[in-house]
Amino acid sequence: MNSSFLYHAWGLYTLECTREEYKGNTIILHVQTKERIKTCPNCGKRNFVKNGYRFRDFVGLPIGGKKVILHMKVQRYKCKDCNFDQQEHIPFATGSRSYTHRFAKYVVDLLRGMTLQDVSNHLGVSWDTVKDIHSTYLERHYSPPSLEGVENIGIDEFAIRKGHVYKTIVVDLDSGRILYVGDGKGADALMGFWKKLKRKGIRIKHVATDLSAAFIASVMENCPEATLVFDHFHVVKLMNEKLDDIRRKAYSMEKDVNKRKVLKGTRYLLLGNGTDIFDKQYKTRLDNALAMNEPLSKAYYLKEQLREIWMQPMKSMAEDILDDWVKQAEQSKIPQLMKMATTIKAYRRGILSWYDCHISTGKVEGINNKIKVMKRKAYGFRDERYFKLRLYALHDCRITRNVG
Ligand SMILES: [Zn+2]
Repeated sequence: MNSSFLYHAWGLYTLECTREEYKGNTIILHVQTKERIKTCPNCGKRNFVKNGYRFRDFVGLPIGGKKVILHMKVQRYKCKDCNFDQQEHIPFATGSRSYTHRFAKYVVDLLRGMTLQDVSNHLGVSWDTVKDIHSTYLERHYSPPSLEGVENIGIDEFAIRKGHVYKTIVVDLDSGRILYVGDGKGADALMGFWKKLKRKGIRIKHVATDLSAAFIASVMENCPEATLVFDHFHVVKLMNEKLDDIRRKAYSMEKDVNKRKVLKGTRYLLLGNGTDIFDKQYKTRLDNALAMNEPLSKAYYLKEQLREIWMQPMKSMAEDILDDWVKQAEQSKIPQLMKMATTIKAYRRGILSWYDCHISTGKVEGINNKIKVMKRKAYGFRDERYFKLRLYALHDCRITRNVG
């Protein structure tokens, strides 16, 4: 192959091609450096002589849909004067990696719209190589996440596999970036983050979190000046757990088979946002379930009303709505609702402080949903480091159109 092709197609101007080989779907180009080094980089004398060689294979950009391997004769040199020993520099690849820079860039580009497995199949390289390339790229561009200018954060936990391995994440609520991924849940998972904050001297203004006592205590201890904010998303999440508990109890106590069926099929409708149900059939099904069971219907309407707390034009009106909600829940005499009333009362200040800051519930919820989608497709995330890197890049839609 013509050397100027190597230059124009791939920018490889120091190489010459000595032979081409065609094996099935692969083109193997035998290459070597055009010029030999004569001057010793150590002592500057011109006694630098060849001292053996070895062959290395690099995957290059494909030609005509075929895989390309650059089979390179890599020369070793030795200085006759100072004994300095060196292998020639390979300008198109990094360290011991077995692919060219351009190939790596191509893989990263493809991964914006394809899964690891798709890219691996398409380019005829292993899944691990594709992951390694992506990992290196993410490491360079997204890690460690910068904390500069961060003022408002959200803290959340989620289970990676059903109910087992937990991760705690800290999100910058202004940019949507994930700033930290901690192992486990509860206060311990956040220790590394607090240390980082202290080291960088960063002052957090608002912290949005769920109503877990462990997180709250951890925030108050480590960010005493920050205002705790309980947003709509997290409070409703807790309320949904109570509602689901009431539904489950009603289901297990119901003897009528048909009524049991109605209760079983409404979980999704009950927990969803009531104003999003447009389908008449669903609406009827939900109404039937609610008409059947009084505690369930009471809980459902209180859940729907809860949202109103965050929808007022001013804080004072939200205060009235909140107090009225607590009163209704207490008067219901339904244990789960009374418990929720106690929680809301205890965190009243944090709930209402939502009116003093600009934390967007949509952002908190959006990030939660993104993680859910990623988890669902995350068969490939046995690699902890790679999983973390994917989370760090999650805000960037150029990176995360594909997952898995
Ligand atoms: Zn020398």
